[in-house]
Amino acid sequence: MTGRARKVVIIGGGLSGLSAAFYVRKYYREAGIQPDIVLVEKDKLLGGKIETLHREGFVIEKGPDSFLARKTEMSDLAKELGIDQELVTTNPNAKKTYILQRGKLHPMPAGLVLGIPTELKPFLKSGLITFGGKLRAMMDFVIPPRRSTEDESLGELIERRLGTEVLENMTEPLLAGIYAGDMRKISLQATFPQFGEVERKYGSLIRGMTAGRKPAETHTGTKKSAFLTFRKGLQSLVQALIHDLHDVEQRTGTGVKSLHLLSGAGAGTAASAGGASPRYEVELDDGERLQADDVYVTVQNYAAAGLLRPHVDVSALDAVNYVSVANVVMAFAKKDIVTEYDGSGFLVPRKEGRNITACTWTSTKWLHTSPDDRVLLRCYVGRSGDEQNVGLPDEALAGLVHKDLKEIMDITADPLFTEITRLKHSMPQYPVGHPANIAGLRSELARKLPGVYAFGAGYDGIGMPDCIKHAKLTAESAAGSLRQQEPAAVPE
Ligand SMILES: Cc1cc2nc3c(=O)[nH]c(=O)nc-3n(C[C@H](O)[C@H](O)[C@H](O)COP(=O)(O)OP(=O)(O)OC[C@H]3O[C@@H](n4cnc5c(N)ncnc54)[C@H](O)[C@@H]3O)c2cc1C
Repeated sequence: MTGRARKVVIIGGGLSGLSAAFYVRKYYREAGIQPDIVLVEKDKLLGGKIETLHREGFVIEKGPDSFLARKTEMSDLAKELGIDQELVTTNPNAKKTYILQRGKLHPMPAGLVLGIPTELKPFLKSGLITFGGKLRAMMDFVIPPRRSTEDESLGELIERRLGTEVLENMTEPLLAGIYAGDMRKISLQATFPQFGEVERKYGSLIRGMTAGRKPAETHTGTKKSAFLTFRKGLQSLVQALIHDLHDVEQRTGTGVKSLHLLSGAGAGTAASAGGASPRYEVELDDGERLQADDVYVTVQNYAAAGLLRPHVDVSALDAVNYVSVANVVMAFAKKDIVTEYDGSGFLVPRKEGRNITACTWTSTKWLHTSPDDRVLLRCYVGRSGDEQNVGLPDEALAGLVHKDLKEIMDITADPLFTEITRLKHSMPQYPVGHPANIAGLRSELARKLPGVYAFGAGYDGIGMPDCIKHAKLTAESAAGSLRQQEPAAVPE
């Protein structure tokens, strides 16, 4: 390689930052550019939201617990890291999901895609919707479609086409686990833009989703599963990344305080890889200053806004509210539990007025997580507009969760132990107009701060595979433009 190495600072050591480091190294090298990468993480540990606890034979996820298999970026990365043999599938005998309705658990009807029925018979037989609600949903076949491609909320679309009952009893609880959000505020374009396209194309969500229905499950080896995780927990991926990135300087325990544009620096384009001085300076909380040609900002939007505000309009970032949630995991002796578990758990609609928003029957859904004579339940607390319980002291929070479990599942035994994780300001809520807002931010960044990239869970999708996808796309496109601009930097 010619010239000096290209200095890259990655801000944030969650999955977005770690995968950015992985793909920057890969794609820059492929473009003939030697990157000198420093990854800066404010916390002592890398991984961000991902954290696995091993306790008394259990594998307990304190943050995310699995990922969608059909979004292959996560299993692709696992393969690149040589840990794909660690991937595990869900229990094939625990496919049912229940939804609480007037205090009783009802199985989710087969063929439901976010509340949109793709099989009419099970939908029409379901106890989750009243007769009137079902008739209203069938109006989807005759209500004229909205032709505008302008963004609206996901809730508006579902309510307009299928009615309030479907929205409140099915769609909202199904999505609560992903966004902990208010469906009437979350952007359709940023979450499920395909539903808007289906409405315009078929004039009916039911007709369109039925026509385009694909099996929800994805093959992994010989088994099929909609979700995947790692045998020893998601932390395996973080550890494999940390290990693989041994040639990346990993700074933990100090955050980035500010980002400065250096005056009199090189053109800020690829020219700086060949010898001109770097364009940026990144100041850390401990006072150290790192010079950078490229800066990858992968922190939460509110943190990114603080770094970018002096340089660009950050209203697109300010507009994303973050909801606080808590995971309350309880372990029980199997002999103390009367309920038969034949599913993956249950979801709780907002109007049920419960403390928990959902409960995963973890030991049934993921057989590897628990000893055979134990039961592991993971309950979720907090959603948009209902976050006050997240801040309760441990005993009070555990008590509220246990009360719900007793009333819904008849669990009277005390747990063997309880693990509480509070994830304050952790769930980004994409507002209506979000994709256009972010596109505007990125075009201003490209003009005013070339070489500075912003992405992560608050931008283009909150699932872990989405975080990896956008880290990868960003690194690949940055390397591609450097390759075009920097003929001098190809290997000799
Ligand atoms: C409770 C919960 C459950 C979830 N479940 C799932 C699931 O099952 N499946 C799934 O696919 N997704 C799930 N998600 C979403 C997924 O976990 C996240 O979207 C993803 O992990 C976010 O990764 P990230 O790197 O973008 O952000 P983060 O993990 O938030 O990382 C950002 C990092 O930046 C650091 N930072 C902040 N400010 C600074 C600074 N100034 N300087 C340096 N560092 C800084 C932070 O400390 C943090 O480590 C869940 C999320 C939550 C909260």
